[in-house]
Amino acid sequence: MANSSGILGDGTKAVKIHHLIKAPENTPESVSFRESWDASKPVTVYKTPENLPDGTPCTAVTVILRTKGCAWWWKSGCTFCGYFNDVRDDVSIEDMFSQWEDAKEQTNGFEGCDMVKVYTSGTFFEDRENPPEWQEAVLKETFEMGLHLVIEAQAQMCTPEKIAWVASHHPGCTVAIGLEAYDDKVLRFHVNKGFTTRQWHKAVEMLKENNLRVKTYLLFKPPFMSEGSALECTTSWLIDVAPYSDEVSINPMNIQRRTVVDRLFRNKEYRPPWLWSLVEMITRAHSEISKLDSRVIVHPTAGGKLRGSHNCGECDRDVVAAIERYSVSGDIDEFATIDCQCKETWRAEIINDSTLPTPLGSGSFRRGNPIELARAP
Ligand code: SF4
Ligand SMILES: [Zn+2]
Repeated sequence: MANSSGILGDGTKAVKIHHLIKAPENTPESVSFRESWDASKPVTVYKTPENLPDGTPCTAVTVILRTKGCAWWWKSGCTFCGYFNDVRDDVSIEDMFSQWEDAKEQTNGFEGCDMVKVYTSGTFFEDRENPPEWQEAVLKETFEMGLHLVIEAQAQMCTPEKIAWVASHHPGCTVAIGLEAYDDKVLRFHVNKGFTTRQWHKAVEMLKENNLRVKTYLLFKPPFMSEGSALECTTSWLIDVAPYSDEVSINPMNIQRRTVVDRLFRNKEYRPPWLWSLVEMITRAHSEISKLDSRVIVHPTAGGKLRGSHNCGECDRDVVAAIERYSVSGDIDEFATIDCQCKETWRAEIINDSTLPTPLGSGSFRRGNPIELARAP
C-alpha cells in the first residue's frame, strides 16, 4: 500500500529506516557545514583535573580529532551520537598528523600534563577510520613522553591481534568502551549500539589479558525509557559492570544536534534526566561500589541546561557541583546538604513511572511549575 511519507515504501525496494533517520545529516547544507572545518586542526584541545590510575591527582589533556568518523555510524549509528557533526570523509593521513602536531603546539608538548585522552569519534585503532601509521605514532610518542593514554573503542573492534598490538606500543594504557547499557534489549532497541554484552565481556577479557585498563561508559536514560526505569536500570548496570571495570563513567544523556534523540526532544517526547536521578543512583549504588577498586565518575555534560541533565533551574548549579565533587572524592556526604522544592516533583515522577502503565514515562517534558504547565494551552 502506498503512503505519502514513503516510510512504508511504494511497492519498490524498501527504504531502510536509517536512511530516513539520517536524512537531515546528509542534506547538502549539513555536508557543506561539516566540510567547512579545517581538516588540519583538531576539533578541540583542553585540560581538566584528573586522577592517574593509582589515584594521584594530575592534569589531563583531551584531544578531540577530526577524523573520518565511526565505522558503525557509516552503517547505522547509535541513537544519541552526534559525533558525526565533527567528522569529514576526506580527512587524509597528513591531516591526522598535522592535527596531532597542532595539539602538541597548543599545549607546549603537553606541558604539565600526566595524562592524555585521544578521542577520534569512533575506535582509535580501527584501520578504516584512522591510518595505522598515525595510530602507531600516537601510541609510541605518548608512551615515550611518560603520559598515561586513554583511547576509545567499540567492543566488536577489539580483536586479539589489535589489542596485543596496542599493548606492545603503549603498555598499560586505558581503553574506554561505550557499553551504554548492560542489557541486550536496551542495546538493540534503545541505543542501536551495534554490539552485545557478550561482545563487551570478550573485549574486557582481551584487555585484561594484555594488562590494559578498562573504562566503561554507561548512558543514563537512553531514548524510549522513562525516568523511573532509567534510574532502576542504570543503578543495576553500574553495580553489574563495576567489578569488570577499572573505571565506570556514567554519562547522563545530553541532546546532540541532528540525532534520533534530538528529534524526540524537539518533538517534546524526551526529557534529559533529572539531576536528582543521578544523585539517587549514586546514593543507591554507593555502598556496593565503594567495596570495589573501580572508580565511578558521573559527569553531567551540559548539566543544568535544557539539553543536558537538569532540575528546576534554581538548584541545578549546586547539584551539578556536588555530583562533580563526588566523582573526585567518592564521598557520599557531598549530597548531605543539597535540597530543593523540585525534588518532590521529581520524586512523584519516579513513583508514577514505577506504578502507572506509562512505559515512556509520566513526567512533564518542560521544566517549570507543574500546575502552570498543566494550565498552558
Ligand atoms: S559507536 Fe560511538 S562513535 Fe560510533 S555511533 Fe556509537 S557512540 Fe557514536
Ligand atoms: Zn530545584
